[in-house]
Amino acid sequence: MAASMTVGTGAPPAPGDLSGDGSQGLLDPSPEPKQLPELIRIKRDGGRLSEADIRGFVAAVVNGSAQGAQIGAMLMAIRLQGMDLEETSVLTQALAQSGQQLEWPEAWHQQLVDKHSTGGVGDKVSLVLAPALAACGCKVPMISGRGLGHTGGTLDKLESIPGFNVTQSPEQMQALLEQAGCCIVGQSEQLVPADGILYAARDVTATVDSLPLITASILSKKLVEGLSALVIDVKFGGAAVFPNQEQARELARTLVGVGASLGLRVAAALTAMDKPLGRCVGNALEVEEALLCMDGAGPPDLRDLVTTLGGALLWLSGHAGTQAQGAARVAAALDDGSALGRFERMLAAQGVDPGLARALCSGSPAERRQLLPRAQEQEELLAPADGTVELVRALPLALVLHELGAGRSRAGEPLRLGVGAELLVDVGQRLRRGTPWLRVHRDGPALSGPQRRALQEALVLSDRAPFAPPSPFAELVLPPQQ
Ligand code: URA
Repeated sequence: MAASMTVGTGAPPAPGDLSGDGSQGLLDPSPEPKQLPELIRIKRDGGRLSEADIRGFVAAVVNGSAQGAQIGAMLMAIRLQGMDLEETSVLTQALAQSGQQLEWPEAWHQQLVDKHSTGGVGDKVSLVLAPALAACGCKVPMISGRGLGHTGGTLDKLESIPGFNVTQSPEQMQALLEQAGCCIVGQSEQLVPADGILYAARDVTATVDSLPLITASILSKKLVEGLSALVIDVKFGGAAVFPNQEQARELARTLVGVGASLGLRVAAALTAMDKPLGRCVGNALEVEEALLCMDGAGPPDLRDLVTTLGGALLWLSGHAGTQAQGAARVAAALDDGSALGRFERMLAAQGVDPGLARALCSGSPAERRQLLPRAQEQEELLAPADGTVELVRALPLALVLHELGAGRSRAGEPLRLGVGAELLVDVGQRLRRGTPWLRVHRDGPALSGPQRRALQEALVLSDRAPFAPPSPFAELVLPPQQ
């Protein structure tokens, strides 16, 4: 793919205008719109979709004329045949233009930044980084997603805080940015509605792991935010959508390249996702751990990723001279309480009772647990032998928690927000046989035999001497001219 290709350089159509601007002759000389079965057939057989074809498909998704089966078939055709950079750019634009473009005061333009992730296990970075960046003087209008496949979703995590409202109009988002400097919202009928429909359909049609669909999904949400800079955390490893680092790098380059073609300055960080990030997995438990990180404490790998991604973003947007200086500013916002203060303001501004927001942000870990949804039972697993913790595999852990209700199997299904697991050990630590290593929080009956076995197999022990766990950060893919 040529990263320098430019698409749609003319004036963008008005928000909500999905018909195209009629100047698509270069890409598709045919003025006749094609029917959906024909579009699906073209992609199924490995053909290229023109700008008009892609816009026609997205329009049919949004106006309801596309049947569920047709949406699923097109997603599968794209998943199997792929899209080139130009098709991916057009799809990104068409999704973004399915709703409103956010408009901000002129004075904010250099301050607008955001971060997104391709999806991980225990990844609560957005919950911490949005307020930390706000504390560093940025405006963060984050449009986030729900759990996808076995990975968790920022919106689901935030909804475990009673009262938190992820549905906010563009006008409300501006007020939130004025009050707190950051907000975390979901796509809606006004904001990227096409991505909402396709995202839910991908989750139940085995089409999550598609490079063009991930790229268009992420960048469409970010394109409407009118950002100055964006950092995307592209996961690789056993629990990532793309386990292989090479494939993840290709995704990173596509995100950066498509971003550049659409005038968005994007950097992509490749980070390891073999073990859960931090020690907690599960919606409410992850909120607790995010709060701990904003206390200046919490697991080192989480803090490391928050400061690394934040540092890159502050540097990319011109708020810091180097990545290291940016990382130090983010770390200071965690240590001096300013990130937590912004988080409290964001909670109260997004519907949480101000007393509850205050109690959550100023309480001890034990007090916080009383304020968030809790599972009915806890069950501990014991180390089966002596050894050094080489790895705790995130994928089997996520799959079992998904079965226990932490994730959904059908679009719109309610979640068990208190369900999750706490790792009681760190990678690199020496363990004795019989020591508890995992605490599962569950609502239903005791873990089944297969679930226990899957969890026990997630713990990988070795004979190595104890070691310091490595940082999850591997490399940064930068935009052209950076
Ligand atoms: N996040 C998104 O918004 N979309 C994806 O496809 C993956 C992660």
